[in-house]
Amino acid sequence: MVVKAGIIVNVGAYRQARSYRTALARPGSLLQNETLNNAARRGASTKDFMNRRPTATLNLLLGALAIACAPIQAAEHATITLYHHVSESTPASTSVAPAVFRQHLDHLRDEGFNVMPLPELLEALRERRQIPDKSVAITFDDGYSSIFDTAFPILQEYGFPFTLFVNTQPLNDSMSGYMSWAQVKQMSDAGVTIANHMENHPHMVDALPGEDMAARDQRLREELLRAQERIEAETGQNHKFIAYPYGEYDPANKAMLADLGFMGIGQQSGAVGFDADFLALPRFPFGGSFTDLNDFKQKVQTLSFHLLKVDPESQMTQERNPSLTLQFAAGDFNFRQLACYAGSQPMQMEWLDQEQGLLRVSTDQTFNSRRYRYLCTAPLRGSNRYFWYSKDWTRSTPTNQD
Ligand SMILES: [Zn+2]
Repeated sequence: MVVKAGIIVNVGAYRQARSYRTALARPGSLLQNETLNNAARRGASTKDFMNRRPTATLNLLLGALAIACAPIQAAEHATITLYHHVSESTPASTSVAPAVFRQHLDHLRDEGFNVMPLPELLEALRERRQIPDKSVAITFDDGYSSIFDTAFPILQEYGFPFTLFVNTQPLNDSMSGYMSWAQVKQMSDAGVTIANHMENHPHMVDALPGEDMAARDQRLREELLRAQERIEAETGQNHKFIAYPYGEYDPANKAMLADLGFMGIGQQSGAVGFDADFLALPRFPFGGSFTDLNDFKQKVQTLSFHLLKVDPESQMTQERNPSLTLQFAAGDFNFRQLACYAGSQPMQMEWLDQEQGLLRVSTDQTFNSRRYRYLCTAPLRGSNRYFWYSKDWTRSTPTNQD
């Protein structure tokens, strides 16, 4: 299959794309907020709102707008950003300063990015519906105070939709440093997507002492459903996806989500596309040393490879430098320009069959941390944009607790 990096479509096609609804949410978000508030008052769910079509008048207005901005490129890919704190007084590794956060949003606005609500983005990709090129969804994990106090008002100023993945127990306990349920409700009423990050922020790949795998999986399932119920009770929202705490997941976690009809979202960097693993979708985390504006600019415009094979498939490993076999479908990039890195060091790349895109990557470096990452990129032909894929490894056994 050929990865279509950017196809010019005509304005009519764009007007018919369901993603046009995002345009409604962008300028000021007043319309969206008002409609969502009305929906909330009537007890309607966000999904009801999302499924509703704009009125004929709005359609006409939108059509005029679309004609004014043609041509639009359609695409099969998007990116999802991940933030934790927007603050200068929280742990640096998971924080971005408010001024830097504004730089990120300025870039999205000034460069014409299509900032989409995550549920719409995931629905479009899963149904293989094209979306505007340079689409991005903004997400936050953990429910920290600075998201409500600082990020929320800034995002409202820009009119950008976003998603909060909340681990519910700290809010249930009114823990300091976290927002309150009333604040979550306020954000929800303003149109913010609220979704599941489990109850106690567990390492989902680990069992508790004395627990076998079946008991672990049962505990996680109950915890996921309790968090889901609490979020729905507080906000009326019931989205079928979770963000894995720490970005850690194993095949049994994925099977559980599949069984529950959920999608899973990780923290491995990369773009999302039609052929993504919807049980382990990548996001680009920003915080610590990854807040630089140029880094942000490069990442939000990345494209997704279509991988035909990832071996081993699991991120769980006992090794400190496992070799990895990848098969890349042909796309709008040159196989010879593929480059893979372990940490920041180039990896050894052995083509098993270059025509078939079959590559084995390995490294002499050894990693002692619990989590580490391999990364492969290739430039989009004739562009300064990159295809981007990363593989996270978690060095843990199901029963260890480091
Ligand atoms: Zn988290």
